[in-house]
Amino acid sequence: MKESFNLVATAGAGLEAVVGREIRNLKIDCQVENGKVRFQGDQTAIIRSNLWLRSADRVKIVVGEFTALTFEELFQGIKSLDWENYLPLGAQFPIAKAKCVKSQLHNEPSVQAVAKKAVVKKLQQYYHRPESIPLPEHGAEFRIELAIVKNQVSVLIDTSGSSLFKRGYRVDKGGAPLKENMAAAIIELSNWYPDKPFIDPTCGSATFCIEAAMIGMNMAPGLRRSFAFESWSWFDQELTAKLRAEAEGQIDRTVELDISGFDIDGRMIETAKKNVAAAGLEDVIKLKQMRLQDLKTEKINGVIIANPPYGERLLDDKAVNILYNEMGQAFAPLKTWSKFILTSDEQFEKKYGMPADKKRKLYNGTLKVDLYQFFGERVKRAQV
Ligand code: SAH
Repeated sequence: MKESFNLVATAGAGLEAVVGREIRNLKIDCQVENGKVRFQGDQTAIIRSNLWLRSADRVKIVVGEFTALTFEELFQGIKSLDWENYLPLGAQFPIAKAKCVKSQLHNEPSVQAVAKKAVVKKLQQYYHRPESIPLPEHGAEFRIELAIVKNQVSVLIDTSGSSLFKRGYRVDKGGAPLKENMAAAIIELSNWYPDKPFIDPTCGSATFCIEAAMIGMNMAPGLRRSFAFESWSWFDQELTAKLRAEAEGQIDRTVELDISGFDIDGRMIETAKKNVAAAGLEDVIKLKQMRLQDLKTEKINGVIIANPPYGERLLDDKAVNILYNEMGQAFAPLKTWSKFILTSDEQFEKKYGMPADKKRKLYNGTLKVDLYQFFGERVKRAQV
């Protein structure tokens, strides 16, 4: 059995460094690249990264990397990899994805077909199966992915199953939910710490509130879902059970959190309540129907994180202009609070009435958005 794996955690554009930090927090060394973070490790690393990474999309095993300019080189390159260490007889192994960028080989369906043939050939030889009979594929699934970038082929097996943003707590969503891993990344990019008050004034389905609570309580985001590797026969499932139990034991239910979500839409608050309950956080997160224009608080040094409607998505332009303007007025008295606002509106600062201290470009799906960051006064003084 393999002791050590080359691994990648995939990440949305702009979030690679956040994922890198999370991997280092697991005490695993890593290298941040475009769209992914590379690391090495044993089965413990596969389990821990899937259970604990909040901002990554998936964790994949790098089966091999080589150069291929022709289909013959692709076939031979794939056939030479150690598939017998991963795929037991009977495994399902779809070539789920092939991506070709700036390469001689660019016909993705053909790349998939050749890759499939190469793996089949290798397994037929290894398991002494006749070539005339198709290999049985009724067992656990191993999703194989290929990326060919500038003629460099990477062959990967997905260990996660469904994407890691699917935590298993989202019962229901609103019209424009933010992906859970993106919400977690934004919280990690902010200056929120669990001892500070946290408000999402346009909380929708409560994604930010739930992710903040899970961070605050040290709750692993993967505890409520399963992973592809949990169906693999060669994988040490006792170890998985042990690390799941360990993660359960690490949840800090004594930490005092002050996390609130508000939304103008009563139905969204109902949705938010269902999600919060599914996450087991109903005693932790306060939810209330309220307009952000009515936000008032005596508390200090808090953090507001918001993903308000953007023109493209939920409201017409005029309504957005008014909303952002009123947001600026409502937030202005909260001088010691930091505000992090995610929107695709390039005129946001003008409408809000204040230039941001910092801006960070991100992608919400394919939509380019900016995280406008306004730091509370105390933080500003500390920085001088
Ligand atoms: N991040 C959320 C999605 C937010 S969509 C999620 O992951 O689900 C924007 C939300 O802003 C919508 O739910 C909408 O009802 C709410 N909203 C719009 N105008 C508002 C206002 N004036 N005050 C408070 N909430 C408002």
